This record gives sequence, structure tokens and C-alpha cells, in this order.
Amino acid sequence: MRNYIEMSKQNAISVDIGGTNIRTALINSNGLVSHSQSISTLPEKGIDKAAERLSSLIKNTIGKANMSKNSINKTISGIGISTAGPVNPLNGKYSFPPNLPTWHQKSFIPILERKFPNLPVFVGHDATLAALAETSFGENKNTKNLIYVTISTGVGGGIIADGKMVTGATGQAGELGHILVRSDGIKCNVGCLGCFEGNASGPAIKKLAEKKYNDFPIGNEINNDFSPENIINSSKNGDIFAENIVIEVLENIAQGLSSILNIFEPEILVIGGGVTWALKHRLNEIIEMISSTALPRYRKKVPIKITSLGENVSLLGAAELVFRHPNTKSSTS
Ligand SMILES: [Zn+2]
Repeated sequence: MRNYIEMSKQNAISVDIGGTNIRTALINSNGLVSHSQSISTLPEKGIDKAAERLSSLIKNTIGKANMSKNSINKTISGIGISTAGPVNPLNGKYSFPPNLPTWHQKSFIPILERKFPNLPVFVGHDATLAALAETSFGENKNTKNLIYVTISTGVGGGIIADGKMVTGATGQAGELGHILVRSDGIKCNVGCLGCFEGNASGPAIKKLAEKKYNDFPIGNEINNDFSPENIINSSKNGDIFAENIVIEVLENIAQGLSSILNIFEPEILVIGGGVTWALKHRLNEIIEMISSTALPRYRKKVPIKITSLGENVSLLGAAELVFRHPNTKSSTS
């Protein structure tokens, strides 16, 4: 196997923590991703157990990269963690994370720094780090004003303004999923009525289908399977009920993205996440809707693209968090 560790470049151990899986990889400053691994998060078992299993994964990554313990701090600049939030990036402490129950007020930083004393540990919110990755690697590199929106189990955002991450007073900025998109819409898990997340996320597609199913007289051939995958696939196959749901979701996405463009005026708004991939064949319709609902400056051109960095986008952002830190910049030079 080719050894991707290159002494002339910085390398980082990158970690992406979601409610379902924890992924790790070794990433160099050119954005080359190698040694990817994944385990289940099992958040209900507590952060200490997750940290134990994550540490084994990190040790394994270091081992696979053929490095001896003595050379770690010369070749790897640190550990970057991208995580579902809310999380405070200064101390890594979670604040009532809905998808990581029992982790409130807990942090990976002290645990991992004890296990890997030569490697500083940095933490960031996954959507913010996705935005950071977009401005550091790939086709939007060096963009100064960029928004990243993930439409997935939840809807979240990352904001880069004038080249800097916007993190807010306690690191919880970017909750773009809770802007209003529909006055007669569904409540999200947080409890706001008619928000982007409550009306366009994966679970929202299911709720929307359940709400409408009994009232819809024709075309409902979906056999009570209201999973977002089945709804989207059925709409592709011509099911009128499923198509009705998908159209409403496209409208909700367009309304949410219109508001975000109006507020921030980014050079580019990048979208990703499971719902985005599943609906990528309808992107032109979303853009057409935005051109008629957003401010007139977007009539001719809507600056929205699907991420070119794929599923590694937050992992790349976690590595960039390590590379950008002043204490790690000189460690390999
Ligand atoms: Zn909400």
C-alpha cells in the first residue's frame, strides 16, 4: 500500500462524529484522505466508552500509517474532531446534543489529550467545518464568503464570512435549519413550527407523508413505507402521492435557501447531506424556485452548488482546523 505520510506536508488525524457513526481518516494538507475507518457511535453508552473505542481507531490509523510512536509529533500535527452539536469549540463540551444523549457537558478533548499527549485536539461543529473545507479544498478553494448547508437527518449550516468561520458567542452559530419556511408547516424536534429542518430533513419527509397520506385520494402506491428513500424513489417511478410530497419538500428547501442567500449574500452556497444527494436530480427545480422567491438580485443567477467534496467534507474541515491552528503550523516545518 502506498504510504501517504509525507514529511514535507502536514498531516492530521481527522474524526467525524455523528449520531450513528464515528469516522476517522488520515488527511494531509493537500486534502488527500487515506486510512478511512468507521465504527458505530452508540451514544447511549456514554462518551467515555465512545472515547475508548475512538482511541483504538486512532491508534489503528497511526499503526496503519507505519509510524513509530516517537515520530508522531513530527509527522502528525494534531487530531481534528468534527461533530454534530451543539458543541463549544473552545472546550469541546456538548450542550444538550439531541442526537448524542448523555453527552451534555462532556468533551473528548481532555480524554484524547491524555491518551495522545503529543497531539493537540481541536473540535468544531460539523457544518461549520464543512464550510471551512469548502474554502480550503476543491472547486471553491479561497472563497471568502461561503455558506454550507447540510440537509440530512437535521438541517444545519456553516458560515464563512470574509474568510473567517462565524462561530457565535459560544460556538453555536449557524443553526440555519430553524429559519421559518412554511407558516402551516410541521414542528421540528426542537419545537419550532414550520422551520427548514422540520419540513425538509429526512425525518420531516416521513412526517409529511404520514400527515398527508389519509387525505390523498390517488396515487398512494407506497405501501405505508414512508421512509424518505421510498418516497423519493416512488416519486421517480411516477407515484402521484410521493411526487406531491417531494414537490412540497423542494419548495421548503427553496424557501430556506432563499432566506439564507438574502441574509448573507455569499459568493457561493454549497449544499450536501443525504436528502441533497437523494434529490440532486431535482436541483434545477430548486434553483428555478429560488430565482422567483429570493431577492431580485438572484433572478438571473442563483449561486448554489452541491458539494464536490462528497461525504468527506466534514472530515476535511476537521483536518483544516488542525492545519490552521497557530500552534500546529510550524510543527512540521
Ligand atoms: Zn426548528
